[in-house]
Amino acid sequence: EMFGQLTTGLENAWNKLKGEEVLTKENIVEPMRDIRRALLEADVSLPVVRRFVQAVSEQAVGVGVIRGVKPDQQLVKIVSDELVKLMGGEVSELTFAKSPPTVILLAGLQGVGKTTVSAKLALYLKKQGKSCMLIAGDVYRPAAIDQLVILGKQVDVPVYTAGTDVKPAEIARQGLQEAKKKNVDVVIMDTAGRLQIDKTMMDELKDVKRTLNPTEVLLVVDAMTGQEAAALVTTFNLEIGITGAILTKLDGDSRGGAALSVKEVSGKPIKLVGRGERMEDLEPFYPDRMAGRILGMGDVLSFVEKAQEVMKQEDAEDLQQKIMSAKFDFNDFLKQTRAVAQMGSMSRVLGMIPGMGKVTPAQIREAEKSLQIMEAMIEVMTPEEREKPELLAESPARRKRIAKESGKTEQQVSQLVAQLFQMRVRMKNLMGVMQGGSVPALSN
Ligand code: GDP
Repeated sequence: EMFGQLTTGLENAWNKLKGEEVLTKENIVEPMRDIRRALLEADVSLPVVRRFVQAVSEQAVGVGVIRGVKPDQQLVKIVSDELVKLMGGEVSELTFAKSPPTVILLAGLQGVGKTTVSAKLALYLKKQGKSCMLIAGDVYRPAAIDQLVILGKQVDVPVYTAGTDVKPAEIARQGLQEAKKKNVDVVIMDTAGRLQIDKTMMDELKDVKRTLNPTEVLLVVDAMTGQEAAALVTTFNLEIGITGAILTKLDGDSRGGAALSVKEVSGKPIKLVGRGERMEDLEPFYPDRMAGRILGMGDVLSFVEKAQEVMKQEDAEDLQQKIMSAKFDFNDFLKQTRAVAQMGSMSRVLGMIPGMGKVTPAQIREAEKSLQIMEAMIEVMTPEEREKPELLAESPARRKRIAKESGKTEQQVSQLVAQLFQMRVRMKNLMGVMQGGSVPALSN
């Protein structure tokens, strides 16, 4: 299981909150200690751990109670959100040049999986419909060139080689020329790796970069090296300027430190991850999915999210209820309808409401006529009935009386009552629009 140890470590934190009612300053002390320990054991860099724990603690104490959600579940959600943020939030897509070819320069230490990634990336882009070409630039290891040629064949992508006697920058120049001739969409250059960073390596890379003017400079780092990976990304970024990282060997028993530290430490995103030795095993780095895997609590997260949504919705409805339901009785109705009958302004207002369109003179006459009918009926209502339209909705006897006293039919009274309730719904919808909700479908 990927990051299994980290997952287990974090579970200790949730377990300490079992049986608690709310999150408090006191009862999160122990869980926060567990979180801190789990992250350090996962080889997350210390400053990152400090900031993370700080951020989570502040939110945990400040978070309100969500009905039906237990404190441990709340903490899981907070940690999850912070993990996603820590890893850069959104997935960071590869950038493509406005006019092809897009040039991707790969750098990295020896053995991290750079050559493998070159071919994987070619296949990955080929699947997106892009034509690719590989350039073999690892002049220090003839075997690396052979390896790239073999992998290139495997994924059916041409490989440009110039042997080991040519300088990398010159290989880059020739390779790029070839790629332009072939009209390929993307050129990927594999470069030499060393066991550790040295000046020659950096100088060579700078030369190659100058020659290629690449769209992406990606540092390939091994997930097994933990926070060291983050330090490497920082160094390479300062030395040659990179656009992001590719994290390899995430399928092995890496502890998570690299995935969690790279963005925060270096400021550069992890763009892709390698999760196996097969050519297909390369995918975008999704911070949210990664957090989900680390916590292993997809159910809890979606449950808390739903509960939060329901809370928000209930709050909004409550507000509308307060604005609307207490008011808008037959008195308001009369006022509204009278205002509506002043059609000069009305037609302008209606014109502004999407879906209402223009009002015709015939409609205006119609409205004035029905206003007279309504007024007649509302006039014979008791003050109580005007304020509580529900009384009329519930009692046929009352409707019958109003019909009789106003000289209208019972059907007209029922219509009036129905109209009032429709009006309420419309008003509610309009409130929604005004509060930034979606545009309601207004029926006539
Ligand atoms: P380079 O020296 O950086 O070019 O590294 P290579 O591409 O030669 O890879 C070194 C070793 O790591 C090879 O045995 C690869 O099969 C292996 N490797 C590369 N990427 C991954 C990965 O994502 N997962 C696993 N399990 N192995 C990988």
